[in-house]
Amino acid sequence: MQCDKCGEPAVMFAAYSGLHLCERHFRRSVETRVRRRIRDDAMLSDNPTADDPETWLIGLSGGKDSVVLTRILYETFEDDPRIELVGLTIHEGIEGYRDASLEACLELTENLEIDHEIVTYDEEYGVEMDSVAEEDPLGMAPCAYCGVFRRDALSKYADEYGADKLLTGHNLDDEAQTAMMNLLSGDVGQIAKHFDASLGSFDQREIDDDPFVPRAKPLRDIPEKEVALYAHLRDLPTHMAECPHASEAYRGEIQEHLHELEDGHPGTRHSIMSGYEELAALAAEACRDDESGGPDDECDRCGAPTKNEVCRKCELVDAVGGELSGDD
Ligand code: SF4
Ligand code: ZN
Repeated sequence: MQCDKCGEPAVMFAAYSGLHLCERHFRRSVETRVRRRIRDDAMLSDNPTADDPETWLIGLSGGKDSVVLTRILYETFEDDPRIELVGLTIHEGIEGYRDASLEACLELTENLEIDHEIVTYDEEYGVEMDSVAEEDPLGMAPCAYCGVFRRDALSKYADEYGADKLLTGHNLDDEAQTAMMNLLSGDVGQIAKHFDASLGSFDQREIDDDPFVPRAKPLRDIPEKEVALYAHLRDLPTHMAECPHASEAYRGEIQEHLHELEDGHPGTRHSIMSGYEELAALAAEACRDDESGGPDDECDRCGAPTKNEVCRKCELVDAVGGELSGDD
């Protein structure tokens, strides 16, 4: 097969667009879609200057998504003094898995000469995911603890670092799965939250009184397979293994259904996302007048924003016998 743009041998075919692309045109197409997303989502909206740059913290796990995101952001802003990039890796304490992916993060950030920080659950919460998964005091899936800890660690660190935005490597498949899970759960409040927290364009979001550093997902138009192919073609240092505690069974089921749908009806993921985003924007607007929406109090223990006396993270730290950093 030949590239539809130049006639060189094609390295991929995208059924949803009907295009065969060669390596050069495929790479360009991925980069163009990421840059367009950065523009369309108004990620550079605060008019930073060289003297007063914006700091973008990149959640860097060492997997293909975050590595590709870091590489493309680096090349996009390499000569732009208005943006400073910093990689942040969360070390959950999962033997074998996170140590190997940390290597990929170190190799990448050393190559690109960008700052890289590491936050560990052990230092932050006095626990490691391996023992949490083994003991599981609340009888939940390991990811239920880990997700809360990761979110807290990212937000807290982004805040302490004075970061303006937190960027994560979620791709089109991840976002379509989340959209379907939210729709199928019937939780309109969750859909509204998703929009203001990380999905919507910055000019449409209400983030002024949001206590969390705003998040964004520049890869959210790129299908997972294309992210993997891009990483492979550019020979980027990535770590492919799956976490031994991966337990999001429902997400896995949705993923399988979405693959089937996409095979039979190319473009399904894109159309789910365009409809979902519109709906989420409407839901967010409707929920903003509802006072019970966001967190309006501070956690008695750690000061994190919460609706309750003690935040979920502090509850979980207690349950697993951990200790917050800074506690006596
Ligand atoms: Fe944590 Fe689950 Fe991800 Fe493993 S798969 S790192 S336990 S959230
Ligand atoms: Zn707390």
